[in-house]
Amino acid sequence: MLESNHSGNGSAPNNAVEQVKSGSETAPRTELEDRQDLAHAFRLAEAFGFHEGICNHFSVSLDGDAERYLINPYGTHWSEMQPDSLLLIDGDGKVLEGEGEVEDSAKFIHIGGHRANPRHKALLHTHMPYATALTMVNKGRLAMAHQTAVRFYGRIEYQDTFGGLAVSAEEGERLAETARSKQHIDVTFLSSHGVVVGGESVARAFDDLYYLERACRQQIFAQQTGGELKELDRDIVELTVEQINRDIQQFSDAHFRALSRVIDNNPNHRFVF
Ligand SMILES: [Zn+2]
Repeated sequence: MLESNHSGNGSAPNNAVEQVKSGSETAPRTELEDRQDLAHAFRLAEAFGFHEGICNHFSVSLDGDAERYLINPYGTHWSEMQPDSLLLIDGDGKVLEGEGEVEDSAKFIHIGGHRANPRHKALLHTHMPYATALTMVNKGRLAMAHQTAVRFYGRIEYQDTFGGLAVSAEEGERLAETARSKQHIDVTFLSSHGVVVGGESVARAFDDLYYLERACRQQIFAQQTGGELKELDRDIVELTVEQINRDIQQFSDAHFRALSRVIDNNPNHRFVF
């Protein structure tokens, strides 16, 4: 039932998607701003239940000439992540600043991913439950059956083979190859594993991460009724994605700033997802 025959299942680029790319340039950010944004993203992701143990990584490519990334150290829980918890690493994964180590899988997936598509300043990898559930179903696809799913139209890639734990350079290279050859892709579903979401800023990538999980949850709820999904016609999908893309950057920024304010003002705030 998850298989979509609709041509708008997230595999093809389109004009509307191109529009948002060109209109979503962001001003250069300082390392401190990137550290603050990334730390907020970790704590928010934990608050929404997107984390799994102390696994998975979020990374940011710093603006500037040198190849530098911020990434989480092994062993720090996402709920305790602060700007100075993050490691500053170079293109070989060598730690330049900070306490702790970077896992090999992080180097393979994140450094390779940033290099392959420099538009992706932020790369967020999670095993969040609803999106991951779709990766466990034969030909699991996010159907264009709800307006939240439609925002991802033309920006999704599906890797339908699981090759073991992502501890080898092989999986990183496979991901990087996709990122290199399909620059419009922002979301990759990894079979029997999880998702990787890339964006031009931490705010943009986090907003996509949040709405991706919402969209997957809505689809799974709809399918639990036993009814058949109502896939939207392609012309309606294209109209809707164009409408969404008009102000998605501003909306993403406003959403992420609001969420960040909430946890700054009350670190114990419990969100309802
Ligand atoms: Zn993973």
